[in-house]
Amino acid sequence: MNDAKRRAIFERLRAANPHPASELVHATPFELLVAVVLSAQSTDKGVNKCTARLFPVARTPEAIVRLGVDGLTPYIASLGLFRNKAKAVVGLSGILVHEHGGEVPRTREALERLPGVGRKTANVILNTAFGEPVIAVDTHIFRVANRTGLAPGKDVADVERRLEGTTPAEFLQDAHHWLILHGRYVCVARSPKCGECVIADLCEYRDKCLPGAKRAAPARAAGAAPAVPRPAVRARGVQPMAKTSRAGARRGRAR
Ligand code: SF4
Repeated sequence: MNDAKRRAIFERLRAANPHPASELVHATPFELLVAVVLSAQSTDKGVNKCTARLFPVARTPEAIVRLGVDGLTPYIASLGLFRNKAKAVVGLSGILVHEHGGEVPRTREALERLPGVGRKTANVILNTAFGEPVIAVDTHIFRVANRTGLAPGKDVADVERRLEGTTPAEFLQDAHHWLILHGRYVCVARSPKCGECVIADLCEYRDKCLPGAKRAAPARAAGAAPAVPRPAVRARGVQPMAKTSRAGARRGRAR
């Protein structure tokens, strides 16, 4: 994909949703970190219900440590993997208290040393809490990057490297949210909504689902774009997906 087309894609995504934001309710980097760790294999809505009860009681690392695993568990018992999540949240809170003065560290290395935090979660925190121009590649971004031709790659690390290396600087901060939203609500895994896609004419995917168009047969013609591979993601503790604003996506779809 050439630079002009890449720039045009991000200009369209920005015009459709100028201010993408996290759907996880949070007021501080620590609250975001807790919410993201809790969000693994859970919905934002479910996490928000839990944190709406938890944060008024304990919204700092010190308070979470005082609560302990047994005290935290009842607040998050409605979530999948809640026992592991309780251990991770209390464990990371203890490390923040003892090694970081109660603050969430601003480096990927320090974040990745926290229980329940892998590269993707670290990138979400760096991007959303601290405004760093990094991209946390989840399954949605991986699919969109490969289909569109923005950053074809064989695994998430490859796609992350290509996206961060080719996305124009002015779009890098929000590219993370735009691409996730696009993959979650428009460029969905099955039957992408190409007919309502704001970048359809720029996208290089050869199996677009456009109104009136027949989808390609399973056995592809010579030269057709390859099927999008599934990202190889190595599980490490509690690994959540990045969560972004559904409202933003609706704004995008409306255009
Ligand atoms: S045109 Fe279709 S395949 Fe391409 S980005 Fe849009 S929804 Fe995805």
